[in-house]
Amino acid sequence: MYSHSSKMQNSIVENIRSIRATIPTGVELLCVSKFHPATDIMQAYQAGERLFGESRVQELVQKHAQLPHDIQWHFIGHLQTNKIRPIVPFVSLIHGIDSFHLLESIDKEAAKVNRKIRVLIEVHVAQETTKFGFSPNELIHFFATEKWQDLPNIEICGLMGMASFTDNLTQIQSEFHQIKTLFDEIRSKYFVSNDNFNILSMGMSDDYKIAITEGSNLVRIGTNIFGKRN
Ligand SMILES: *Cc1c(COP(=O)(O)O)cnc(C)c1O
Repeated sequence: MYSHSSKMQNSIVENIRSIRATIPTGVELLCVSKFHPATDIMQAYQAGERLFGESRVQELVQKHAQLPHDIQWHFIGHLQTNKIRPIVPFVSLIHGIDSFHLLESIDKEAAKVNRKIRVLIEVHVAQETTKFGFSPNELIHFFATEKWQDLPNIEICGLMGMASFTDNLTQIQSEFHQIKTLFDEIRSKYFVSNDNFNILSMGMSDDYKIAITEGSNLVRIGTNIFGKRN
């Protein structure tokens, strides 16, 4: 139908097409579907998308039950240790690991269902104190202890990070750069013989292009695909 208002929202399929045109090969697109209904997810699915991200356990469990089983579900929210169990049997990647305790708890639950859970360690470089994750120093310490090596049902696949919520593009760029530098440093120290540490999850609707130029290979995009969340 002819849309007579320039403010009219594009369809999900059109949004995906135009975003895909800006993402180089080698960079994966995670469609962040939190708060959006299963019918919206199906539109993205029919456009060929298979990676979807959710931030609440209940919502993720419900959508997983409802939707096609070749979807790879990523958990991108703040995970509490008492809420791990229902997602462990099917989750494809957990982005926001921010403590050793959380990692241990996931390992225990994963052992019960005989899975190895892929995770990203969250690093906090943004200015907001509300964001979760290890500070750069804590991150280096976390890896240096090598206690994470003792968790047989955990596969650490890389890092996840966010830039500050700001219009200052130079600052956003330098924060992503800092995360990429940490990623390279950790990979060369602990994962030289392990190809699985290869995911750098950075970039959202407003800053994913900068994140890609700074080395992200997994962007997490919600609003630009599905529109505003309520
Ligand atoms: C909600 C969310 C996103 C998506 O944000 P948009 O700005 O809507 O693209 C990405 N990453 C995380 C961790 C989120 O919680």
